[in-house]
Amino acid sequence: MDNRFDKSKDVTHVSINGIELIQFNNLLKYKDVITHCFTTRHGGVSQKPYESLNMAFNKKDERENVEENYRRVAKALEIEIENMVLSNQVHDSKIRVVTEEDRGKGIIRQSDIIGFDGLATNRRKVALVTFYADCVPVFLFDPVKTVISIAHSGWRGTVKEIAKEAVRKMKDAFFCEPKDILAAIGPSIGRCCFEVGDEVYREFEANIEWSTKYCEKKDGKWYFDLPAVIKNSLLNEGLADDNIVLSGICTKCNKDMFFSHRGDNGKTGTLAGIMMIN
Ligand SMILES: [Zn+2]
Repeated sequence: MDNRFDKSKDVTHVSINGIELIQFNNLLKYKDVITHCFTTRHGGVSQKPYESLNMAFNKKDERENVEENYRRVAKALEIEIENMVLSNQVHDSKIRVVTEEDRGKGIIRQSDIIGFDGLATNRRKVALVTFYADCVPVFLFDPVKTVISIAHSGWRGTVKEIAKEAVRKMKDAFFCEPKDILAAIGPSIGRCCFEVGDEVYREFEANIEWSTKYCEKKDGKWYFDLPAVIKNSLLNEGLADDNIVLSGICTKCNKDMFFSHRGDNGKTGTLAGIMMIN
């Protein structure tokens, strides 16, 4: 598989004032309705090892640098920082519904959103912001009910099927029908690089029996295909195959473009997945 980021047919790589972003073609069709992106390393002001577009406040990066990075990304997307709502992730599977009242939480004011790996809303001008460095971003959009959700699905979240939980939240809170929902499964560590130990393999086996078919043993080591497991969770929940896009981009293989926890031995910045109803 050629997993260079610039070879993916399902994503668009945009550069706006030096800020480089990834967008998904199936969501771009609705750009009059929603704004979205997955950030890269490029276009920010942070210094090594966060060079340069680090989006996380919880690292040892200078706060003013991260704030400047947010200003640049917000300007590139033409959204207001004040309208952003940041998740506070713990590798669990809980999804929080947010509204206008949550705007600015985690960025310009204190947040009570703690322990949520996914956000959802049906409100306009509420920008959902979630964080990654090899974990899988899952963007969901229902163009019929105009509802969005983003979920952070690392291996623990994938074992807990957070993508399925996000779809269920969209159904329960907003009466979305799974067949209407579009999904984009973004850049993350790929099967090529996601080597795991027996204990991780056993977690998958114990919790989602079918998931082990997305695991390959090579030279005595397990390699898991997290995006494929997530896609299958979404199919099981009723999404249409044609409505699910896999970026096919490995963050570790493309660490010149993306922060990668494994690629940078844990000393790296953080990428953001952002989505908003216009
Ligand atoms: Zn790779």
